[in-house]
Amino acid sequence: MQKRPELQLVNGVVMPQVGFGTFKVEEGKQVVDAVCYALQAGYRHIDTAAVYGNESGVGAAILKSGLPRKAIFITSKVWNADQGYDQTLKAFEQSLAKLGVEYLDLYLIHWPKTAAKTADTWRALEELYMNGKVRAIGVSNFKEHHLTTLFETARVKPMVNQVELHPQFSQAKLIEFCQQHDIIVQAWGPLMQGKVFDIAVLKELAIKYTKNVAQIVLRWHVQKGIAPLPKSLHQARIIANLAVFDFELSQADMQIIDALETGVRIGPDPDKINF
Ligand code: NDP
Repeated sequence: MQKRPELQLVNGVVMPQVGFGTFKVEEGKQVVDAVCYALQAGYRHIDTAAVYGNESGVGAAILKSGLPRKAIFITSKVWNADQGYDQTLKAFEQSLAKLGVEYLDLYLIHWPKTAAKTADTWRALEELYMNGKVRAIGVSNFKEHHLTTLFETARVKPMVNQVELHPQFSQAKLIEFCQQHDIIVQAWGPLMQGKVFDIAVLKELAIKYTKNVAQIVLRWHVQKGIAPLPKSLHQARIIANLAVFDFELSQADMQIIDALETGVRIGPDPDKINF
């Protein structure tokens, strides 16, 4: 099987750059099939979360694949209602049990809460990390100010920040900040949750490179050193979304995509969440 690009986290852990997303993939047959397609296609990085309610199916698909545990990079996330030191340790054990694994590769705080709550949650992640239950720890949906606050109490800095990131919301400043702090950025909603396909300029680039719009956009992420996590239920799309390593966008075309920035999110603003 072709070896695909990986990113190295600050602690040396290696993560396949393109991961498979599982948000809104139903527990049971739907998630088992989708993750099986992904593993067959060559994805070795699966992104789930306790709140997606599909960790058991993700685990079942991994088992079904027959691949050794260490061949797959598995991420899960502690949900907002489970934040706090004790609750997080408990939530982590539940995720492990549902996934049917002994350790996670990456565990993230799903959304920032109050500074005090987040600090307590982070302490639990640090403990899991130091005890070898998880190979890397990080956060999700953290803005610069959330990270700066976390740095005040953290003993171990987050290694990853998973945020909304696509051509219309490209997070240039946050990427720069994360790079300065050795934090790898993962992109959720890399395909704008399906809205990317309506953008005319991307359709033109797809014709120019004889690729599809999803491949153009995911290649843009890859060339920026970001880890995109595309989700699909369809086998052909799952395969296509990983086929982004046999072409290169020119600098001029990268800038054309950068110019699509609108500053408008498709998902919630982490400063305004009410869940
Ligand atoms: P994506 O940007 O990955 O878009 C998924 C949508 O695009 C689906 O409707 C899918 O439809 C469609 N699609 C995918 N590939 C193609 C293709 N090649 N051609 C046409 N349509 C396509 O959105 P997500 O919100 O799922 O984000 C990706 C992952 O990021 C999630 O699955 C999850 O793991 C993570 N995430 C994390 C969040 C966080 O707060 N940390 C928040 C949201 C997501 P179909 O399935 O029918 O193919």
